[in-house]
Amino acid sequence: MEGRTVKYICPYCRKEMEIEVFDKVNAQEDPDLQERCASGDLFKTSCPHCKQDFMVQYPLVYIDTANKFILWLSQEEHPEIGNLTRPLIQQGYRLRRCSTIREFTEKIAIFEDGMDDVVVELAKYDSFIEFIDNKKGTAEEITSIEYQRCENEVMKINIRTGDQGMSFLIPVGMVEEEIAQNPELYEIRDDEIPLINSDWILSLFEESAGQA
Ligand SMILES: [Zn+2]
Repeated sequence: MEGRTVKYICPYCRKEMEIEVFDKVNAQEDPDLQERCASGDLFKTSCPHCKQDFMVQYPLVYIDTANKFILWLSQEEHPEIGNLTRPLIQQGYRLRRCSTIREFTEKIAIFEDGMDDVVVELAKYDSFIEFIDNKKGTAEEITSIEYQRCENEVMKINIRTGDQGMSFLIPVGMVEEEIAQNPELYEIRDDEIPLINSDWILSLFEESAGQA
């Protein structure tokens, strides 16, 4: 698949350069682009003038027909694919918006592993609480909380603080039980192309704390 070439101003030297962008990637039709999306390399660029390397995020629709999910990488709330959502949901597709490249690459890993992203976000939240409760560090020190993989029904979650890292092993069954105790709280609607990320999970607990 060919991308489009667009003009871009280098954020470092302010000179004009060209970048290649893709509006749509189909994972099965183009395995090379699939790999570049999964790694995030698709968004890496280098300025021909000052040689600085950096990432450029632009709106992209990512379709995986084998694992049945569609990701919409966008900072805007209302996707263009609005009226197409119903038939896709009927076919069993999961629809998600991703607001950052990091969320996008992580979501690809989660869905390719056949995981439920609500379960993963709650596992990440539980890892965060464990990290804070055990005084491993403060919330301010955390630079990222990421899903790494799931093996034998146990998720591996990494919490990074600068160049330090710590892993948490969270059984899928334990998180599923947690969700089963309050299923309405974790309900999501694919037709809204929801953003299922750390802000979303935090908002659930803030809302339920507000009601109590
Ligand atoms: Zn430059």
